[in-house]
Amino acid sequence: MYDIQKIRADFPILSRSVYGKPLIYFDNAATTQKPRCVVDSMMEEYYSVNANVHRGVHFLSQQATNLHEASRETVRQFINARSSSEIIFTRGTTESINLVASTFSDSQMKEGDEVIVSVMEHHSNIVPWQLQAERKGIVLKVIPMTDEGELLLSEYERLFSSRTKLVSVTHVSNVLGTVNPVKAIIDMAHAHNVPVLIDGAQSIPHLKVDVQAIDADFYVFSGHKIYGPTGVGVLYGKEKWLDKLPPYQGGGEMIKNVSFEKTTYNDLPFKFEAGTPDYIGTTALAEALKYVSAIGMDNIASYEKELTQYAMQRLREIPGMRLFGVTEGKGSVISFLVGNIHPFDMGTLLDRLGIAVRTGHHCAEPLMHRLGIEGTVRASFAVYNTKEEIDALVAGIERVSAMF
Ligand code: PMP
Repeated sequence: MYDIQKIRADFPILSRSVYGKPLIYFDNAATTQKPRCVVDSMMEEYYSVNANVHRGVHFLSQQATNLHEASRETVRQFINARSSSEIIFTRGTTESINLVASTFSDSQMKEGDEVIVSVMEHHSNIVPWQLQAERKGIVLKVIPMTDEGELLLSEYERLFSSRTKLVSVTHVSNVLGTVNPVKAIIDMAHAHNVPVLIDGAQSIPHLKVDVQAIDADFYVFSGHKIYGPTGVGVLYGKEKWLDKLPPYQGGGEMIKNVSFEKTTYNDLPFKFEAGTPDYIGTTALAEALKYVSAIGMDNIASYEKELTQYAMQRLREIPGMRLFGVTEGKGSVISFLVGNIHPFDMGTLLDRLGIAVRTGHHCAEPLMHRLGIEGTVRASFAVYNTKEEIDALVAGIERVSAMF
């Protein structure tokens, strides 16, 4: 049983109002709200455990270290990684991708070597590669898509050459909601002996992810999009790849021994974790993962699917509605435009009704160019949203439309 009232009660912010209207929060693809257990965990650890991790002999340091390393194990279990040394804590998806882009191109790529991305990538899976293109002349190839928002796998196959060194694609589009066939994408790359990075920012909160089942070489996500705190995220990498990559940043934690003559680096995962980690954040992230696991990722997926199908059907009833991303089995992200109402106007007027949506290019300008538009209005759903809220969104859009 999916107890929506109980879930909503776990999120204090959902009972507040904006402009005197009950808050309807549909900006979950940007960040999710936090359940009480996540915030309590941060408060409790600051109040009663706080100490720097790993190097302390004293009680608090050991307790904080145990919590931090237990969180790594929770992440490992959550994505079914083989070993917790394959779990690197970062600041989020963006830092995880930058880490791989920088260290992979430094150690595995030469001028003229190629990385394949897709046309629906977030800027954070485009610009880090462009920085490497500027720095060392690597080349970006782009998988095209259909008008509905489906990647063209036959075109993808044609992009491989002897210079292809890595594929880096998103699991779920943050604009279209398309769930890409990552297993097929990875299998095709592996047939060419090319490793694959999957951007899991928009999949991890909504789908059960098993990195071994899909055979991802790298999988990255952000804690704040899965009900965890801001400023902490994950890079999963297969040990065989992480071992090949040089450190990303230098400092404490990532070394074994330092002298002015020769410094040796720490073992995985610490080789990639220079400096004091956000150990309060990692404990809270683990709380968030336990929270969604208790509801059940399969239950979350089917509940959100129902919400998405309901919303798509209701939105289609609105005259002048244009929906972007109309693929089979799409995730809980809906982008739209109505008539020639500017997305910013729509977003601002919905906000006055208490409905938080996002407007603009959603950090995916190349995708906007592909669609021939400047931006969309985006409503994205999470565990605590309801059909009643979707009805309010539809009524709100109709009211705004009537004004134009
Ligand atoms: N990739 C995708 C698909 C995203 O939706 C986002 C966040 N909008 C990111 C990457 C970047 O995540 P973060 O800002 O948490 O690093």
